[in-house]
Amino acid sequence: MTYDAVITNSHVVTDQGLVDKNIIIDDGKIVGLTTDEPSCDEKINGHGLVSIPGVIDTHVHYGVYSPIDKAAVTESRVAALGGVTTMMRMLRLGDSYKRSLASQLEASAGTHFVDYTIHASIFNKQQIEEMKFCVENGVTSFKLYMNLGADVGHVYMDMVPNTTSLHEVKVEVNLEIVENVVRTAASLGCPVLVHAEDYEACSCGIKTAKEKKKDGLAAWSESRPQEAEVKAIQTVSNFARKYGCTLYFAHIGSRSALKQIQKEKNVGTKIFVETCPHYLTLSYENQKGYLAKVMPPIRTAEDISFVWDTIDTNQVDTIGTDHVANQLKLKLKGSDVWDALAGFPGIGTLLPILLSEGINKKRITLQKLVQLTSTNAAKIFGMYPKKGTIENGSDADITMVDLKKKMRVRSELFGGFSDYIVYEGWTLTGWPVKTILRGEIVAEDLQVVGKAGFGKLIKRPVTAFN
Ligand SMILES: [Zn+2]
Repeated sequence: MTYDAVITNSHVVTDQGLVDKNIIIDDGKIVGLTTDEPSCDEKINGHGLVSIPGVIDTHVHYGVYSPIDKAAVTESRVAALGGVTTMMRMLRLGDSYKRSLASQLEASAGTHFVDYTIHASIFNKQQIEEMKFCVENGVTSFKLYMNLGADVGHVYMDMVPNTTSLHEVKVEVNLEIVENVVRTAASLGCPVLVHAEDYEACSCGIKTAKEKKKDGLAAWSESRPQEAEVKAIQTVSNFARKYGCTLYFAHIGSRSALKQIQKEKNVGTKIFVETCPHYLTLSYENQKGYLAKVMPPIRTAEDISFVWDTIDTNQVDTIGTDHVANQLKLKLKGSDVWDALAGFPGIGTLLPILLSEGINKKRITLQKLVQLTSTNAAKIFGMYPKKGTIENGSDADITMVDLKKKMRVRSELFGGFSDYIVYEGWTLTGWPVKTILRGEIVAEDLQVVGKAGFGKLIKRPVTAFN
């Protein structure tokens, strides 16, 4: 019998460790790790590269500043170039899931270069009642924005497909909503992703900073203090313990937040933790201007090294980018940090940043990299072992990386919707050179060679955490 393809001469990172074996691919799946070379239609010579499970970006915002029918094409292209084979969309709807989920799914089918899946953001009572409907449609994780309410409750929802107007809505994610989302998610067996910043504390901090005419990223950080994260973490963890809900703290990047999470874990709260590349690299001390404005804010060099330390002690489970596909004209719409838009693109540089700052600076091992960027996400979100691992029977989602390749980051490298990148001019060592999705090469040497539409929606079963 002849198989579809074989990857030879690469160092393969498996759940059991690094092995020098050929990866046999058939029908989009991995069917063997061998030392011999059976007959195959296609041979991909690894030339000593490292093969890792395709990266899963757990946290991606696209479809907000351009409609999903367009954003899926541009942003999944960036994903493919960056070695990401599955992107998890943070869907935000201003209205009802029963009314609008189908049109969002329809508009994103046939437009992705890589596989994708969806987290549903829940803002109000009606959407809480629709959580079961989401689960029935393969959307098995929910996002809570504890940062949104009072006078900081304005948020851009995802655009209506095939339209181009921004869709701003005022929401109030109060305690009642938080408790009911947690309770309902627990009854459905789904995790709740939490944006843990207390909106009252943030609202107050911003008001004070503006009164004092403060500006810049340091002021932004000060206005949303780490205590606001701690407060939200305490609140939602109490509910989670009460109802037996599993929490997933998104974009954690401060020392106090990480410490509080550890405390909540110690008293039995089921918690997973995500950090982002920017909390491992950027501080308000090393960043000028407003480009790196994000919620929660980037903090200090000390916080950065604390996040690396917590990775080292296995307190961080995943790396998501919190990628926001926006553009400079909106990002810098005002004249100060308060008017600047929060969020920036990052899906293309996730892997290069971790290879350069993590692997090549000996802060993490290849095994740890794979857990953080793929395996753990697949396990937490119901995709394992289909995704997240290189083993018999898994999807042949493989990213081949060159640990020695050195290149300067430029926004144009990725050709996404955004016209800037916070890492502009950084020289990174370690880049993906081949992205393989279900056995097909979708990107090679920073060129997309796949087809939009090859990427498929992954409907996820409910994960059993217990
Ligand atoms: Zn986000």
